[in-house]
Amino acid sequence: MAEPRFEDGSWIPGQADLWAAGWLEWLILSVIVYLIVASVTYCIVRLFPKAILSNKSIKNEPERVLLVIAHPDDECMFFGPTILSLLQQSQPQFYVMCLSKGNFDGLGRVRKQELWNSCTTMGIPASNILLISHDLLRDDPRADWSTDIVGKLIVSYVLSHHIDTLITFDGHGVSGHKNHKALYFSVRELVKHKKMPKHCTPYVLESVNIFRKYIPPLLEVPLSLMMSPVVFMTDWKQYRLLRAAMSQHVSQYVWFRVLYLLFSRYLTINTLHHIGYIVESPHQSKKKN
Ligand SMILES: [Zn+2]
Repeated sequence: MAEPRFEDGSWIPGQADLWAAGWLEWLILSVIVYLIVASVTYCIVRLFPKAILSNKSIKNEPERVLLVIAHPDDECMFFGPTILSLLQQSQPQFYVMCLSKGNFDGLGRVRKQELWNSCTTMGIPASNILLISHDLLRDDPRADWSTDIVGKLIVSYVLSHHIDTLITFDGHGVSGHKNHKALYFSVRELVKHKKMPKHCTPYVLESVNIFRKYIPPLLEVPLSLMMSPVVFMTDWKQYRLLRAAMSQHVSQYVWFRVLYLLFSRYLTINTLHHIGYIVESPHQSKKKN
């Protein structure tokens, strides 16, 4: 059937075409509005970081924080904004517990020293770093780490150092690495079975989808502020310090890590959730109340 046309031969748009054009208009308008809102929000956060982010920090100013990681370099690849913000906010005692020496490529001894160099560059005292080398906790993306072993190591450290705030990966482990995820499952088991000491509140670093992971911070900031209870951001000076810390991991400084440092949100933004919120869904907690 011939397409309907005006007398001058020009094409007459049908109902479906008008509908598509309408949607396209709305889409373009929405993108423009989001860009304006994102830019304004980003500028406000950059101009008044303390005022905006003070409501988005960990409640009850932590005094003794333990970061639990799986490999040397996790601390600055993923947790940099959290470490630097907390160190700046209230000068808490900050501890790092690394559960393997990252020996997957046989570089364990080198990587151990790199962990110390990186942490001290960020301002964590060398005496506050613990690296565990356990036969059953190998650096291997195929290895299943025992939640029981990891849980016991964590509880022992939390008790002996009077830790009040624990931070680790969430169930996706940012990169999906099995060793990262094992830390979450171990902490989750401790919370679930009430084995986590009561004075310690565990938090997990939120994994985001690949789009949010690499979009510019300007576009990501409003989403993080809206969707996450705890947000840490680096300023320009902290970002440079983080780059300096990452450069201590010489053995890991390959080309794709350089790209990662340039584009990953984890160098500029960290969003955290209280692990109780994830273990127990809002629906479950409603039922209890
Ligand atoms: Zn790792």
